[in-house]
Order: sequence, then structure tokens, then C-alpha cells
Amino acid sequence: MEESATQLVQRIAGESGKGSEEVQRLVDEKKERFAGLLTDSGAALMVAKELGVDLQLERRLQRLSIAELQDGMQNIDLVVRVMHVFSPKSFEKNGKKGVLCSLIVGDKTGETRLTLWHNDVKKMQEQGIEKGSALMIQNGYVKSFNGKPQLNLGYSGKIIPNPPEAAAAGLPSVDNQVFKLADLTEGLNDVVAVVRVLRLFPMTEFSGEHGKGKVMNFLVGDETAIIRATAWNDLVDVVGRLVENDLVKLEGAYTKQGLQGVELHLGWRARVLQNPKISGEIPSAMQLLHQKTESKKISELGAESGLVAVSARIVSVNSGQLRYNICPKCGAKVQRMESGMACDNCGEVKEPDIRAVLSVVAEDGSGRINIVAYGAPAEQLIGMRKEELQAGLAKKQPEEIIKEIEQKLAGKQIAVLGSPRQNPYSNELELIARSIEI
Ligand SMILES: [Zn+2]
Repeated sequence: MEESATQLVQRIAGESGKGSEEVQRLVDEKKERFAGLLTDSGAALMVAKELGVDLQLERRLQRLSIAELQDGMQNIDLVVRVMHVFSPKSFEKNGKKGVLCSLIVGDKTGETRLTLWHNDVKKMQEQGIEKGSALMIQNGYVKSFNGKPQLNLGYSGKIIPNPPEAAAAGLPSVDNQVFKLADLTEGLNDVVAVVRVLRLFPMTEFSGEHGKGKVMNFLVGDETAIIRATAWNDLVDVVGRLVENDLVKLEGAYTKQGLQGVELHLGWRARVLQNPKISGEIPSAMQLLHQKTESKKISELGAESGLVAVSARIVSVNSGQLRYNICPKCGAKVQRMESGMACDNCGEVKEPDIRAVLSVVAEDGSGRINIVAYGAPAEQLIGMRKEELQAGLAKKQPEEIIKEIEQKLAGKQIAVLGSPRQNPYSNELELIARSIEI
């Protein structure tokens, strides 16, 4: 049972040694000062604080609404709806690393900003709190920014998702429609979509009228379409940490018409959630690329074909070294110098990593082509992880291993996803494989 405002006044009177009439007068004054924005209980709690009366046990009574928030309020509880979540920001201050995340929260009286710091950001992510979640904020405090009261969590503060109190709180609703990529049109704001990351392109820096910026393009897909996406500035840091095939929920994105159709843009309002809980399944990046990529006969391929799907039969395996040395830091090919090995980007390389490489001849009835695989697809054709390959090459010559591979692969049907290119030395067309299914 919650104490009534009258009971509170009595209790404050008892514990402060003042008369209850005097306490009531102080409460009324408080209410007048805040021009009707404070409830009776809210005002009583402020008076208690000024009189040095500790009502910690009754902290829950101080359930406020957003319109009641005033600079300096402490130990307050609110029931709110998350209207928007901004992308968490990492920062460094006095040599310490931190992270903060801002949310816009609302109730039936208004909206305000809630800022979470460090561990609370992690907890929020673990609890799956997102746009549309109902929240109980416990032990918050108010600090004004530019004259507007904003919420923060105190040291013992908590955010509790889906509290039972939310049902009766009359919280505003949010439009939480999750778009399928094929349904996106030009000029949308605040778009939510769940997509597979198909490809990441290198980040570029630019300088504009507001200083320096960063931009990064990437390709995303769902079962309805594959489209191009662009991350700007802070969001580049987030997208830059993703890898191909990651499943992500994009929030707060906007759409724009690009050269190849509608594009998704992630600006300052956007957020990227990794491994969101979803109902149903989104096919893997490779499945999506295979489904949405045009199938071609070998005879139809040209250096300008772009990404294509080819089905062919392996005829033979070309001779080669099966691997080359790469820089363990950046993945670039390392050059053998007189004094050792060096990477163009990173300088001297003491212990290089290796990347597998294999080239096979394949035919499909319309023609023949060399299919060249690097990295993962090469390991798949070879049938060994690069570590096993490395160990194998310590005992056998590459030609020996290639013979064994050929015995296994000759006559096998493969589905290849790749891009044709003109070999710079032989000038023949070859297919660079991005993925291979045997
Ligand atoms: Zn390097």
C-alpha cells in the first residue's frame, strides 16, 4: 500500500520534530513554486529532503511523471516507454575508456532524454531494451541540460524492462514496424529493418563544411531484396566492427534514392543491434547472395559481369603453391626482401600468416574457365583448414598435395558465386570465387 500524502506529512512531522501544519504549509509552498507540476507526494518528498528526513524506504512512492521532473531531483522512479535509442558512444577521458548511450523516453505527459553510462549500457543491451520497450527507471536523478531536465541513473539506479506497472501507465505507443527491404521507398525516416550483412566496403574520410567525417558503404539483404547501405561518422565505428553474415537490426535509419535503387542510410539517429531476437529466420549471407545473384553460363561471362552464380564441373586442378604469406595485422600480401619480409602497410613482418589459394579448371557445356579461390573458399576446395595445409606443406611438396586434391575434385559439380576478371598476366578471363558449394 502506498502512503497517502497526508500520511507522509505526518511522518515527516514526526521525524523532523516540526508540527504537521508547518510541514503541510511547506508542502503547499513547494507545490505553488512548481506551478502545479508536482504531485502532493512529490512535494512532500522534497520537503522531507530539505528537512533532512530520510524516507529511503518509501522511495518507491516518488513515482513521478516526466512533466514533473525538475533539476536536482533525486531517487525518483518513472515508468516510461523507450521512444528512441541512439547509438552508444565510446569516449576517452583522462585516459579512461567509457561508453554512454542516450535514449528518448516518454510517458503520457511528455518526453525526455535518459543517459546511461558504462555498465548500465551493457545491462541495457543484455536485457534487450530497445525502441518500444516499457521501462521502470528506479533511482534516477535529474540534471538539466540547456534548461531542459534530463534523466540519469544514480549509483544504485536500475532499469527494469516490462514492469507490471506499465500496463496501467497509459504509455504512448511507438511505431515499431520492421520493414522488409523490398518495401522500402525513398524518403522514409526512422526505419527499422533486420538484415544480413553481405559485404563491407572500405571506410573513407572526407572533409565537409562541418569538419571531417567518415563514411562507409555496405551491402545488406533479407529474403526480399539486397540493397546498398551507408554508415556515417559514429556509425562507421559500429559498422566497421561487423563481419559478413552478421545478423543486425538497424534502427533509426533513413532512405534515399541511389544509383541502383533505394539505399539505407545510418546517420546520427541510427543504431545497430547485433544478433537481435527475431521470429522466423533470415537466410545466411551466402544463401541470399546465391538466391539474388544472376546465374550465368561460362560462355556468357565477361570482365564486366559483376557478381554471378555459375554451376560447373571440375575438370582439373592447376599447379601452384597452395598458399602465400600475408601480414597478420592487415592481411595484405607480404613481400620477401633481402633482410626478411615486409608489408606495404605495416612494415617488417616477423611471423607471417598464410592464405590458401587454389585454381581449378571447370566446364559447363558452354565453355571452360579457370576458377580461382582465395582464403575460405580455397580451404573448402582443398578440404583443409589453413593450419592443416601449413602442416601438410611441411611434409610434402605442393605438387603432391595438388595431385591428391585433384583425385578428390575431378568430376565434382560445384556452384560458384564469384566475379569474372581478366587475368593481368595471361589476359584470359577467370572467375574469382567468393563462395563455393561442392
Ligand atoms: Zn600489414
